[in-house]
Amino acid sequence: MYDIIIVGAGPAGLTAAIYARRASKKTLVLEATTYGGQIINTLDIENYPAEEKITGVELAKKFYNQAKNLGAEIEFEKVVEIVDNGATKIVKTEDDEYEAKAVIIATGTEVRKLGLENEEKLTGRGVSYCATCDGAFYKGKTVAVAGGGSGALYEASYLSNIVEKLYLIHRRDEFRGEDALVRELEEKGNVEFVLGANVTGIIGDDRLEKIEVTKNDGEKLELLVDGLFVAIGREPKNKEIAPFLNFDDAGYIDAGEDCKTNVEGIFVAGDNRTKSTRQIVTATADGAIAASAAVRFVNGGYYANA
Ligand code: NAP
Repeated sequence: MYDIIIVGAGPAGLTAAIYARRASKKTLVLEATTYGGQIINTLDIENYPAEEKITGVELAKKFYNQAKNLGAEIEFEKVVEIVDNGATKIVKTEDDEYEAKAVIIATGTEVRKLGLENEEKLTGRGVSYCATCDGAFYKGKTVAVAGGGSGALYEASYLSNIVEKLYLIHRRDEFRGEDALVRELEEKGNVEFVLGANVTGIIGDDRLEKIEVTKNDGEKLELLVDGLFVAIGREPKNKEIAPFLNFDDAGYIDAGEDCKTNVEGIFVAGDNRTKSTRQIVTATADGAIAASAAVRFVNGGYYANA
């Protein structure tokens, strides 16, 4: 029996593990893929305090090593279900099942897809969701980026230094992302904005050959591109494992800054919780808050020092 099981080894989950272990709680972290979460796809991080500039992979390693060195057990198994038995919780993975007094769900988010035919088939064959992972394959080629948030602007900025030509396609006439990034892209000679337009077709047999773009006035364009980078935001990935929790309309676990869910002994930390600012620093803050609350719960004082 564990005191605390943490689902997800991103910044929130690993910070929770650090706090849980420093409180001497028997702690297991379960991670479906690799540790680090979303940050491992970020080349340079320049807004995490005390690390002026660090790669996502390096920062992820630091979180992981700190949790591990403090004695957290970390297993790479995909969690499929959490069962609430009141005083204890069962966490089922594809391979095994574990029991704990408290659970912290820190499963983060996953990329939002366009939902178009061929999108899945051509993923890895021209369609990508990560410029830092796949950008190097498009040296001297033509690509499109779909999206208008800071994520899409960063992807476009990164790719514009590699590719010959880049189309940035956004469904409105104004970007949601940071103005400074928009200005930077405006000054690049190889970036063309296609505004008030949606990608409506992904065309190709074995590889992406072209995309169809539909302007808001109905005009259709075909753009010959070697790559399409989809950067239209992210979605939470937690509903299936604990459907009995309360969720907001967008599917995030409905919990406030105290990281408590509607079920005693189940906490949430990081990007998969209802919140206004999703950054590494807010994820780590959640990890500390959720673990401290879980420790109090395990010690028998759920409502104390909320
Ligand atoms: P985001 O801010 O939610 O932006 C998503 C963009 O995609 C919006 O411009 C949205 O259009 C568009 N969009 C959403 N669904 C779409 C669809 N089905 N078809 C076409 N377009 C669609 O997401 P994000 O850019 O990933 O950023 C997430 C958070 O991380 C933000 O707080 C951001 O400031 C922060 N951030 C991220 C990065 C990064 O590298 N990912 C970097 C810095 C900061 P509308 O504008 O019309 O809604």
